[in-house]
Amino acid sequence: MIPGTFDYHRPTTVESAVALLLQLGEDARPLAGGHSLIPLMKTRLAAPEHLVDLSAIEGLRRLEVVGPDVIIGAMTTQHSVITSTLLAELVPILRETALVIADPQIRYKGTIGGNCANGDPGNDMPALMQCLGASYQLTGTGGSRQVPAREFYLGAYETALEPGEILTEVRIPIPPAGHGYGYEKLKRKVGDYATAAAAVVITMAGGTCTSASIGLTNVSETPLWASEAAGILVGSTLDAATVNAAVAAAEAITNPASDMRGPSEYRTKMAGIMLRRALERAQTRAKG
Ligand code: FAD
Repeated sequence: MIPGTFDYHRPTTVESAVALLLQLGEDARPLAGGHSLIPLMKTRLAAPEHLVDLSAIEGLRRLEVVGPDVIIGAMTTQHSVITSTLLAELVPILRETALVIADPQIRYKGTIGGNCANGDPGNDMPALMQCLGASYQLTGTGGSRQVPAREFYLGAYETALEPGEILTEVRIPIPPAGHGYGYEKLKRKVGDYATAAAAVVITMAGGTCTSASIGLTNVSETPLWASEAAGILVGSTLDAATVNAAVAAAEAITNPASDMRGPSEYRTKMAGIMLRRALERAQTRAKG
């Protein structure tokens, strides 16, 4: 399939990109790696008249530690996340998650900003960002603001981005040294979106869980931060009864569609199983 016609713009600064987007209005879309947007255009589910390509904006490829946070520029590719020694050391769950996104070709082009800004509940990074307590810097002609990932997703393909704004960077609080982590994803085949997936980050001390955070992918119209389920784990030794209660609490907030990945009830149960597996892996990795 061939997309409809469009005008192509390639600004070199964030200021010119947001000015263009504001001026062109609803007929314009930012273009990052293109691996969600172009397939939609090919099937005519999207038909923007203008594409504002962000790839020539050098400042959007930042990857550095600032105080207690790591900052990832929006145009950082999923491949760069996988190969970053800095991220492997400080936030290793990013690499584990990026490795189960699509396939290598897509990961060479697909960006963190595009994955987080897209608003597709099937994207893997949003639930992880919620689990990590990340925030997004959104920039428009009037300046920048920080929005927590836990407040950014309003519905399927609906986000807190205002007209003319772009997501410029992701700010992730670095989890404590010795934390345990796991991202578990059930998919029908390599390269598929999740039937259900779960992200877990925990800390342990003397065999007791001292903090926990859980994100769930593709089991609702938005990514889910399972705060009640995580709260159940804190203060426990992660014994079977506590884990069962946490899994039940996580399953209770899901509301997946019945689709080609399975009926809704099945996908809810798979979310619970992914959570169990991610938690088990996190526990084996946690020091303390
Ligand atoms: P684009 O496609 O360029 O943009 C996506 C949307 O976000 C567009 O609406 C665009 O206007 C907007 N946008 C992009 N960047 C910004 C920004 N900085 N600020 C504001 N808006 C912006 N993803 C997964 O997470 N898991 C998978 O398993 C998975 N499987 C896939 C399988 C296939 C076959 C394909 C084609 C894609 C798959 N993807 C998957 C999607 C892939 O990861 C995309 O690359 C990603 O979702 C979007 O990133 P992008 O850089 O390609 O964004």
